[in-house]
Amino acid sequence: MSQGLIIFLGPPGAGKGTQAEKYSELKSLAHISTGVMLRDHVENGTELGIIAKDILERGDLVSDDLVISMLQERLKEEDAKKGAILDGFPRTIPQAESLQNIGEEIQISSVVVFEVPEQILIERMLARGRTDDNEETIKQRFEVYEKEVAPLISFYAGDNLIKIDGVGEEGDIYSDLTMKLEPYLK
Ligand code: AMP
Repeated sequence: MSQGLIIFLGPPGAGKGTQAEKYSELKSLAHISTGVMLRDHVENGTELGIIAKDILERGDLVSDDLVISMLQERLKEEDAKKGAILDGFPRTIPQAESLQNIGEEIQISSVVVFEVPEQILIERMLARGRTDDNEETIKQRFEVYEKEVAPLISFYAGDNLIKIDGVGEEGDIYSDLTMKLEPYLK
């Protein structure tokens, strides 16, 4: 059976997580957020969590090897068999390349890019109040986004790349997302 993946790309605070949560429920897909998984590891004090803690606090990226193996294990779980939304992965070119090589049954159905101006992102993130949502860390996460993540938009340029205007009401953005993704789901 083929395992279709939908990739959600976008800067921190763009609303990827909120939209992924709703859309995965609608379509019975697994919602895989590497950020949530890493924060769980930190909270539970696992070996990976101990390594990741300072990196998350600084707003830097956890190493490709660690995140790729964490994601590959997650994709083997039962709920992901029918497909998944990847929220926050890939974040680097090597991570994106790892997805091309993990198995024939895995295919990328669509890549969704959420576009939101930086000033709005900062306001949203400060209101959200996560421990890595302080001004210093936010600045670093934007720098990492521009340097590492933004190039993925060109990496995935092509027919299955969808752009979503992430400014406005959550419900309106969701309607737009649902409509634009429809042709890519079987
Ligand atoms: P997020 O919840 O997606 O904003 O992720 C929170 C933090 O987790 C990021 O700032 C990174 O430190 C780390 N992280 C999440 N996903 C990845 C990834 N794919 N590669 C490296 N680090 C990640």
